[in-house]
Amino acid sequence: MSRLGTEGAFEVLAKARRLEADGKHIIHLEIGEPDFATPDNIIEAGVSAIQEGYTHYTPASGIMEARQAVATFVSHMLNTDVEATEVVLVPGSKNVLLFTLLACIEPGDEVILPDPGYPAYASQVNFIGAVPKTVTLREETGFRMDLDELASLISPKTRMIIINTPQNPTGGVLTDEDVSFVCELAHKHDLLVVSDEIYSQLVYGFHHVSPLSQHGMRDRTVLMDGLSKSYAMTGWRLGYAVAPKALAAKLDQLMINSSSCAAGFTQMAAIEALTAPESAQAVTHMVRVFERRRDLVVDGISVIPGMRCMRPQGAFYAFPNIEGTGLGERELADRLLTEAGVAVLPGTAFGQAGKGYIRIAYTQSEDELKLGLQRISDFIAANRV
Ligand code: PLP
Repeated sequence: MSRLGTEGAFEVLAKARRLEADGKHIIHLEIGEPDFATPDNIIEAGVSAIQEGYTHYTPASGIMEARQAVATFVSHMLNTDVEATEVVLVPGSKNVLLFTLLACIEPGDEVILPDPGYPAYASQVNFIGAVPKTVTLREETGFRMDLDELASLISPKTRMIIINTPQNPTGGVLTDEDVSFVCELAHKHDLLVVSDEIYSQLVYGFHHVSPLSQHGMRDRTVLMDGLSKSYAMTGWRLGYAVAPKALAAKLDQLMINSSSCAAGFTQMAAIEALTAPESAQAVTHMVRVFERRRDLVVDGISVIPGMRCMRPQGAFYAFPNIEGTGLGERELADRLLTEAGVAVLPGTAFGQAGKGYIRIAYTQSEDELKLGLQRISDFIAANRV
């Protein structure tokens, strides 16, 4: 257990909730969860499924119709040809990484992952006794990977590369060149690629790129995705893996030994999410709103003395550099919460390369975001050193 980490977002949320219980007003820019309600048609499908009796165990990898819906959706979106038997439904996409690590990685093996990056990557890799090797994402390159650094990390012990695009916490995206390079390395050194694409539908004027679409990558890629972010379905708990058939069978076995299955009515709601035109329209609407909020946040942060912010091309996070304020990221995040009533995360909650940054989730209304920006601006004006 000492090797297992945690997630800063859940810790800061708990602290913010305690302050709220004491009567303080907090603007929540810490947790990565859309503020939208799940679209009505998806809710109705879930309710009908409960009424129709989808309240029992399902096959461990999921109801075939739901796996087929994922296969068709992914095939269309990533221009590839996924079969339902390559899809495993899980209660939240984090399981995809955990199960893949358990199935494929031995203690002492090395796994390359991004820094800053989603905390579960390093935590899970450490937990199973493998060794995380971090590739730095730098602001100067739009938080893409440094490809030379990536290549230099490969050793005889490297087994897996974890990539994430669009990225949490930076909002950066990987380009065709980046993904092709990862695929080349994977071929050359016989590596598995876990591609976390949970934000793939949340892109702003950018064409999402996946290793799954690349020639020869189907048998060495595990897609990690789910409904949480794109369809505002975080609490429904539905993630999915697209994996080579032999590995999909192992993931099925790990499901049998852990959750048994994802909830049946959630799986039925997923079919509606992935196939109904209303769901696609709802996603388009949410993306438009997120894009406006992104601009509001980036423009608002950029005029605060001591702060600057790259304009993210995906997800719903901004990752401003705060070095010019003279305050460290932990002190700033702590004091913004307790003194200004704004919950944000320190960049170092995502790895050492997050030093000098904070993460802002623009998952609140424009009014809340404006108030949050005003509070940050006032705080910096009074406390900049
Ligand atoms: N991957 C990334 C990059 C995330 O930011 C998150 C959630 O914040 C997840 C995976 C997990 O999502 P879920 O378990 O809801 O599918």
